[in-house]
Amino acid sequence: MNYDELLQKSNALRLKTPRARYAPSPTGPLHLGNVRTALLAWLQARLVGGVFIMRNEDLDTNRVIEGSAGRIYEDLRWLGLDWDEGEDVGGPVGSYVQSERTALYREALDRLRALRHDGHPAVFRCYCSRRDVREAASAPHQYGRLIYPGTCRGLSEAEEDAVREEKPDRIPIWRFWMPRRRVCVQDEVAGEFCQQLDEEVGDFVLRRADDLFAYQLAVVVDDALMGVTDVLRGRDLLSSTPRQIALFEALGFAVPTFWHVPLMRDESGERMSKREESLSLQTLRANGKTPDQVVGRLAHSIGLAAPGERISAQDLLGRLSLDDFKDALRRASDSDK
Ligand code: GLU
Repeated sequence: MNYDELLQKSNALRLKTPRARYAPSPTGPLHLGNVRTALLAWLQARLVGGVFIMRNEDLDTNRVIEGSAGRIYEDLRWLGLDWDEGEDVGGPVGSYVQSERTALYREALDRLRALRHDGHPAVFRCYCSRRDVREAASAPHQYGRLIYPGTCRGLSEAEEDAVREEKPDRIPIWRFWMPRRRVCVQDEVAGEFCQQLDEEVGDFVLRRADDLFAYQLAVVVDDALMGVTDVLRGRDLLSSTPRQIALFEALGFAVPTFWHVPLMRDESGERMSKREESLSLQTLRANGKTPDQVVGRLAHSIGLAAPGERISAQDLLGRLSLDDFKDALRRASDSDK
C-alpha cells in the first residue's frame, strides 16, 4: 500500500478501536527497564480494549544487532505479552519493520518539501557540519545540547550553489524549519509539558547525511500511518514530543495521546540503560527466574503489586482497572520528578 492508502486505512482503524504500540530498537537484549515499559504499554492497550502493535525500529542500521528483534519478541512472549500486529504476526498496515518503510519516510519528506508555513518553507537543506553548528557563536545551548542557529534557512538557489561549491563533499541534510511556537503535551502520566520550540529545540534533523531518516520523522510517520492512538513509552522521550507534535500537525496527521512513564532504576538508584549492561531479561531467565516473578517485580516497582508478589501478566491485567493503572503511573511519575 502507498502512503495515501495507508493513511486512509489507518484513519479508519483508529476510529474503530484504540491502537497502542511498543517500538523496540533491536540493538541488544532488553533490560528490565525496557521490559517494564513493554509490560505497561501492553497493559494500557488491553485495559482500553485496544489493538497492540509491535514495531521493529531498526532504522539506525549501524546500531542494529543481527537476531536481536527475534530475541526481543521471544523475551516478551516468555513474559506473557502478546500482540495483534507486528513483523512476526502480520497486520493490515505493515510493514512493521522500519527499514522496510523508507519509501513512506521519503514521501513524507517530499510532502513537507512542498509545504510552506508562516510564509517560509517547512523544511530546508542544511550544509552545516556539527562543527559548524558548534562554532557558530550564536548557537545557544539547551540541556547541554546545541541549538541549530538557522544558518541555512531560506538560502536562495544562487546561495546554495555557492555553498555547494565551497563544500563539494558535504552531503546536505534536511531540517524542519521550527515554527516560533510554544507546544504543550497534556501527558496522561507526566502531566503538562511545554516547550518553546524555536528556542528550546531549534530546526531538528529529518534526514541525516548518512542517508538515513531520523528517528523523529520515522516515529511520527509510523505512528500516524499505523493509526496509533496511544503512545506509551519511556520518560526520556517526553522532551522529543513537542517537536513530534509539530511534525504530526505539519503533515496533517491526528496527534495521539501520550503516556510517558518513569524509567526504571536499579538498586543504586541509577536509570537503566542498554549501554551500561543493566540487568537483562536473558540473565534473569538464565538464573531460573519465572515469568511470574519478573512480572511481580516489575509491577511492584511501579506500585501495581505487593513486594515479593508473583503474578502473571494476564492476572495482573485481570485485577486492574484503567483508573488504578493511571493512578499508579501518575504516583510513580510524581515521585520520580
Ligand atoms: N525505538 C525507541 C527505543 O527503543 C522507542 C521510540 C518510541 O517509543 O517512540 O527507545
